[in-house]
Amino acid sequence: TKATFDRIRETEEQVGSFITLDEEHAMELAKNIDAKGITTDNVLAGLPIGIKDNIVTNGLKTTAASRMLENFVPIYDATVMEKIYQADMIPVGKLNMDEFAMGGSTETSYFKKTKNPWNLEKVPGGSSGGSAAAVASGQVLMSLGSDTGGSIRQPASFTGIVGLKPTYGRVSRYGLIAFASSLDQIGPLTRTVRDNAYVLNAISGYDAKDGTSAGVSVPDFTAKLTGDIKGLKIGVPKEYLADGLQPEVKEAVLKAIETYKELGATVEEVSLPHSQYGVAVYYIIASSEASSNLSRFDGIRYGYRSENVTNLEDVYINSRSEGFGMEVKRRIMLGTFALSSGYYDAYFKKAGQVRTLIKQDFEKVFESYDLILGPAAPTTAYGIGEKLDNPLTMYLNDILTIPVNLAGNPGISIPCGFDQEGLPIGLQLIGKHFDEATIYQAADAFE
Ligand code: GLN
Repeated sequence: TKATFDRIRETEEQVGSFITLDEEHAMELAKNIDAKGITTDNVLAGLPIGIKDNIVTNGLKTTAASRMLENFVPIYDATVMEKIYQADMIPVGKLNMDEFAMGGSTETSYFKKTKNPWNLEKVPGGSSGGSAAAVASGQVLMSLGSDTGGSIRQPASFTGIVGLKPTYGRVSRYGLIAFASSLDQIGPLTRTVRDNAYVLNAISGYDAKDGTSAGVSVPDFTAKLTGDIKGLKIGVPKEYLADGLQPEVKEAVLKAIETYKELGATVEEVSLPHSQYGVAVYYIIASSEASSNLSRFDGIRYGYRSENVTNLEDVYINSRSEGFGMEVKRRIMLGTFALSSGYYDAYFKKAGQVRTLIKQDFEKVFESYDLILGPAAPTTAYGIGEKLDNPLTMYLNDILTIPVNLAGNPGISIPCGFDQEGLPIGLQLIGKHFDEATIYQAADAFE
C-alpha cells in the first residue's frame, strides 16, 4: 500500500487519474490486514484498488466528476465496496471520469483531464478514463469502473489493459450513481485476465438492494483459465469489420482471428444486422433514463445549491444550470424531449422495440457460437480536445460497444497490438448472458 502511494505521488501530476486519495484510511486497513495475516484462499487480501468516483464510499467524497456533487460525502457504502472490504482489498482513492459517466474521453470531468499514460497528449478514453489510466500507469494493479455504453471496454482498449463489462444483473448497482439504470454495470479493469477474473469473483452476486440484480449462482471465474480453447466456436460479425475502422485496428483484429484459429477455435463470419441502429437507440434510451435519474439533483436534498436565488423556481433552475456541465445538460434535454408526450411513441417506445431486435440478433448468433469477436473501438486513442466540440463523432466512437449493453451481454476488451504511433489496440470478446467464464477462457488463452 505504501509502494502504491509512492507510485501515485511519482506519476499523478502527469497522468491525473485521481479526484480524491484516501491514504490514511488505506494505511490503516493495510495494518489491520497485516495483523490478521494473509491466507492462500484469500488471494486479493492486501491489494490496493482504485474506485471510479461514481461508486459511493461511506465517509469519502463521491463526486461523479460533477460540480453538482463536489462536496458530497455519502453516508453508506455501495454493495461493491462492502464486497471489496470482505475480500480484504484496500481502496486507495476515487478515480476521475466523465461527468456522471457521460462521455468517452474523460474530458467532461468538472475537475481535470486525465492523460493517456502511453502518450500524454492523448485521451485515456472514457468514461472510466481515470480507472484505466491508473492501472495502465502502474499506480494500482486493479480498479473498478462502470460501463453503460462502453465506458470500461473503450478506455481499457485505449490504454492497453483488460476491462470487462459483466452481464447486466451480475454485479449489484446499489450505490452506483445512476446514469442509465437499464444499461449500467460495474466491472473490473486490470493488467491481466486472471486478475480481472479474481476481482469479478469478489464483486459478483445477488443483492436484494438492487431490483435488477440476478439470482444466479456465481461460478469461479478462474476455473476455465487452462489455456485450452480447442473446439470453441467464435463468430465475427461482418458489421464489426466494415468501413470506418482505422486500418491498423482492422489488421490487428484479423491477426487475432488467425491466432484463435491456430489455438484450435473455429472462427466464422456472422451477422448482427440491427447493430447499425445501436448508437441511435442508445442515445434515446440512455438520455431518457438519465433525464429521469438526474431529476433528483434539485438543489434541495443534497449536492450543489445556487446562492443566487430569490424564489423556489430559481433554486431548481440556477442550481442545475450552475451545477451541471454542458454534456450532462445536453443529455437531459435529449432525454426530456424523447420522453415528452407526443414524442414518446416515436422515440422512446420505438427505441425499445429496436433494442429488442438488437438483443434477438445476439441470441440468434449465440444459438450456434460460444463467443463473438471484434474490435472494442473503431480507433485508437485520439488527441485531447480533438472531438470535444463535435459530440456526434464522439458518440459514434461507441458503435462497437453499445449493442452489448443494449442486449445485456458480458464483454471484455484485451490488448491485441499497437498502431503506428505506438498506441494500444483493443480486442473485444462478447459472451452469452452470465457466461463471463468462457470470455475469460478465450481472453487468457490469447494473452
Ligand atoms: N460514451 C458513452 C456515453 O457517453 C458511454 C458512456 C458509459 O458507458 N458510461 O454515453
